[in-house]
Formats: sequence, C-alpha cells, structure tokens
Amino acid sequence: MNRAKVVVVGAGVVGAAIAEAVSRTGRSVRIIEQGVPGGAVSGASLACISTHMQDKEELPFLIWNRDQWAALHARRSGFEYARCGQLRFLRSEDEIESARYWIDTETACGLEPELLEPEAIRHIEPMLTGPIAAATWSLDSAVVNPFLAVRMLLEDAQAQGAQIQCHARATAVRVEHGCVVGVDTTRGPVDGDVVIIAGGPWTAQLAASVDVHLPIRPRKAQCLATVSQPLSIRTVVGACKSEGGVGVGYTQIQQSMSGQILFNTVLANGVEDSEDPDHVPEVDRSFIRDSIETFLFLFPGFADVELLRSWVRHEAVTPDNRFLVGPIGPTGLFVAAGDGGTGFTRAIGIGRVIADQLDGRESPFRTDIYDPSRFARGLQA
Ligand SMILES: Cc1cc2nc3c(=O)[nH]c(=O)nc-3n(C[C@H](O)[C@H](O)[C@H](O)COP(=O)(O)OP(=O)(O)OC[C@H]3O[C@@H](n4cnc5c(N)ncnc54)[C@H](O)[C@@H]3O)c2cc1C
Repeated sequence: MNRAKVVVVGAGVVGAAIAEAVSRTGRSVRIIEQGVPGGAVSGASLACISTHMQDKEELPFLIWNRDQWAALHARRSGFEYARCGQLRFLRSEDEIESARYWIDTETACGLEPELLEPEAIRHIEPMLTGPIAAATWSLDSAVVNPFLAVRMLLEDAQAQGAQIQCHARATAVRVEHGCVVGVDTTRGPVDGDVVIIAGGPWTAQLAASVDVHLPIRPRKAQCLATVSQPLSIRTVVGACKSEGGVGVGYTQIQQSMSGQILFNTVLANGVEDSEDPDHVPEVDRSFIRDSIETFLFLFPGFADVELLRSWVRHEAVTPDNRFLVGPIGPTGLFVAAGDGGTGFTRAIGIGRVIADQLDGRESPFRTDIYDPSRFARGLQA
C-alpha cells in the first residue's frame, strides 16, 4: 500500500538521519528519493564531523551530534569512522587573536582545543611544513565515509520498518483542508499525514508546490583529489575563520583511507553562483587554482603529486547559514534543509529535533535558531 504515517523526501544524510530517528518513534516511514541514496551532495562530501570553529549558538547541539556518530561507529561494524582531529592554520596575529576567541568559547563548553606553535604542529602533522605562524588543534573532529554513513542510517531505519523508494521524484505536496495528505511522485501518489522535505537544494521547489517559499539557494561545493599517496596527512587541516559553513576563506584538506588527498579552498570570487539545482555545473578554474595554491603553501612536499579528479555538487544555503528545521505551512509539513556545507556535522541532531517535534517533546538544545519561518518573521540573526 502506498501509505505511511510519515513521508520523508530525500535520502541524503539529513533525510536518512530523520528516517532513522522518526522510525524509532514507532511511526511508519516511507522515504522517497529521486536518484539513489547519498547520490547528491552527501556522497560528494568530505564528511568531517566537527565542533571546532562552528556556530557557537549550536555548540551543545554539535557536541550531541558528535557523540551520536561515535555511538553509531561503536554499534555498527563496517562503518568507516576515524577520530583524526583537526588543525586550523593561522598566518597572522589577527588570526591568532580570532583563534583565541574560539578556544575560549569552546573550552567554556567543555571542549579542549589548543593553540600550537609550529614545532608542536609538525609533531602532529609532519608534512605540514608551510610558513604558518601557529595552528589550533582540536582532537574532537572525526571523518566518516559519506556513502557508508548514509547507508548505515538507512539500514537502521529499515530495520525499524521504514521503506525506501528510489528513482521517484516528489512533484507536489498534497494538502486537503489545510492538512498534508501525502505527495505526488513520478511513480504515483504516496499518502501520509506528515511530509518532511529533506531535499537539500531542491527543498524550496517542492515546498513552493503548497505556496511555502523558503530562502534556500543552491551553491557550488567543489573538491579536488590527488592520485593515491602513502598515508601521510593524518588530520583534517583547515583555515581559521570566524563563522561556520563553507563560505569565503574556507579550506579543507584531508587524506582518504584509500590514500587520495582531498582538498578545497573557497576564496572570494572563486566560485560562481548557481541558480538551478538540476543544472550539472563544472568546477571553476579559479577554484582549482586557489585550492592548489593553498595546498602547496601548507604542504610544499606534495608539489610533484598528480591530480586525479575534481567534482562539484550543490549544497543548500540560507541567508544566515543555518538549517531550516521544523514545521511550516499546512499542518503536517516539515522541512529540514539549508546545510551551508556542514550537514554531516548536524544530521543526526536534526533527526532528533524532528522526532521530538512530532512527539511534542522539548529538545535538549536550542531549536528556535532553526525555525523555518524566521526570515519571514524578520527574526534572523
Ligand atoms: C566537497 C564537499 C565537502 C564537504 N565537506 C563537509 C564536511 O567536512 N562536513 C560536513 O558536515 N559537511 C560537508 N559537506 C556538506 C555536506 O555534504 C552536506 O551538508 C550534506 O550532505 C547535506 O545533506 P542533505 O541530505 O541535506 O542533502 P543531499 O545530500 O543533497 O540530499 C538531498 C536528497 O534529496 C533528494 N531529493 C531532492 N528533491 C527531491 C524530490 N523532489 N523528490 C525526491 N528526492 C528528492 C536528492 O536527490 C538528494 O539525494 C561537504 C560537501 C561537499 C560537496
């Protein structure tokens, strides 16, 4: 029967985490995915789970999320998870000052970031020999294999009765007398009392079918990979920046378990904007140049290493770089999108927030900052 209590649109990491959390409440769940699970931005991710230099209002939420990924790793074999820690390089006194602010803020929340001199940095990351002034060190960061992460969450949801339908695009939310009654899909209608749109950058399109207009726009998220190298980069290396999200000034460098070095640097004007989430974009030339320059500035010893590939996907961005999570519009409609390039760091917590909202339970962390109506009400940060 094409009916479930809750219909989740999207099987990226956010939809998968929601399906897992909601099916644990005892509700029947149907997941509708237009492609394959993890086939959009989630599978293209570097998938670092971090509490370092993120939005300080979200820290308790991020800590909870971090613990859930570690618990998933402890529970499930075959899940690639490494608590490798994170270094954020600092080039100037200004950046060191800004780093001190983050260290103080995170320490006040019980975390243990440190400020390291170059000699101590080389001890942790011997190949990082570029001329940096200092770095922050947070042992708290982990990386996961993004495809396996999505798969594990979906398997846990399916073990609790959730069903998934792939290659079916939800084309409209159906509403009767002000209440959601399901979705139309390219493979026929699916009935449900609750519809949760976790469609990444496509979320706004589907919400518009019931006149709900969300301030989400697609943004290119790009990456480069070298050919396989002996394992030599041990941590996630990033730039120091003053706010969360993958905005201007962002750098991320890490080595996959297969040996490829994965890296990206986003500088001003380095990335063209995107309008249509269905458009298949190309990697920007200036992005390639900026990324290689930053990589070799930090790791000059890799100057002769060959590039293997590049890729680009669309992440979903909101005006304040925070997710939209919760009910909006007709009764029974929920959204969970607007990752700003940090969805793995938040996905399991978002599942928890939605499950709490369905159960009418207070969440243990702030949820007003994710209110999907905040821009319409002029309440954005
Ligand atoms: C290079 C790169 C590096 C990154 N590094 C990190 C990192 O280190 N840490 C981190 O936390 N995040 C990182 N991110 C961002 C992270 O990958 C995203 O924030 C996260 O994957 C978003 O998940 P999502 O489920 O919201 O979106 P998606 O993965 O886009 O999932 C949405 C799904 O919904 C489906 N869908 C949409 N509309 C419909 C419809 N109408 N009908 C049916 N299905 C539909 C889509 O097909 C898609 O599968 C990175 C991203 C990239 C590209």
